Amino acid sequence: MKDILYLVIPCYNEEQVLHETSKRLLEKINTMISNELISCESKILFVNDGSKDKTWDIIEQLYSKNSIFSGINLSRNRGHQNALLAGLMTAKEYADMTISLDADLQDDVGVIDKFVEQYYNGSDIVYGVRSSRQTDTFFKRTSALAFYKLMNILGVDAIFNHADYRLMSKRALEGLSQYKEVNLFLRGMIPLIGYRYSIVEYERHERFAGESKYPLKKMIAFALDGITSLSIKPIRIITMLGFTIFFVSVIALIYSIVVKFFGSTVTGWTSLTLSIWMLGGIQLLSLGVIGEYIGKIYNETKQRPRFIISDKLIDINKKDK
Ligand code: UDP
Ligand code: MG
Repeated sequence: MKDILYLVIPCYNEEQVLHETSKRLLEKINTMISNELISCESKILFVNDGSKDKTWDIIEQLYSKNSIFSGINLSRNRGHQNALLAGLMTAKEYADMTISLDADLQDDVGVIDKFVEQYYNGSDIVYGVRSSRQTDTFFKRTSALAFYKLMNILGVDAIFNHADYRLMSKRALEGLSQYKEVNLFLRGMIPLIGYRYSIVEYERHERFAGESKYPLKKMIAFALDGITSLSIKPIRIITMLGFTIFFVSVIALIYSIVVKFFGSTVTGWTSLTLSIWMLGGIQLLSLGVIGEYIGKIYNETKQRPRFIISDKLIDINKKDK
């Protein structure tokens, strides 16, 4: 008896891609079932993240035609990370392993076999890592690189060039379910779970239809969230900055006293304005960074649900029609 695989796919306004995606995934999963790589109870689980278009209708249709398709419907749009978590936490109940991937099939479906192979070889987590970023724009490439570098400097253990294309075993998901934080940055949290992991390289394709749901503004917010959810180094840096400025000001104090008694005191307009602006700037920046963290604490203490599932279409008994 082979293990049960659930493919988990968050979808936000993906009506343009769902038909093609579901067709390709069905082919893939059927081949794997007939090759006896995975159990025939394996499923394709779509998570509708409060889409405004026909995404949920399409998922319902797919489900009624073939029970290998399943779906959960979130009560509203909660963002990619929350939608993904909703899918994973639902799949955890039925699956031995899950693979999360994007609805636009930018993640190469061809390497799913390799993921599963690594799972049978004893890996609890398999990270899909992009072998190249040729299909990305120059801007996205460099900004992504800068982001990973910055994360590493700030002490976050993120896997380079890995997004959310990954396999997780049941016990890795159990581990993840114990992380109760509401500020989700899954790719930074999952390495914290531990267990044996491995890496599978793949080529990332271009989105074949529809448009990206991650404009620059969302990307920057996501990057900032990632850093402030997983690292307190920025606050340390502020403390160090404070110390340095204090040290410099002590020297300046001694210097100005010496000059007052032994030299001529010229009204130092330049240094005065400079220090007012500079210190003001640094203080505001520091307040902002500390505020970011207080905001995070505020959100965490409220312990609001990370997602609410309004409909659930999973048929675990019915065999394929
Ligand atoms: N997504 C989601 N909720 C959102 C935004 C995006 O579930 O609020 C899904 C989207 O449907 C897709 C995946 O997250 O399956 C990645 O989004 P997208 O392809 O737009 O991001 P990109 O690949 O451009 O970074
Ligand atoms: Mg995409």
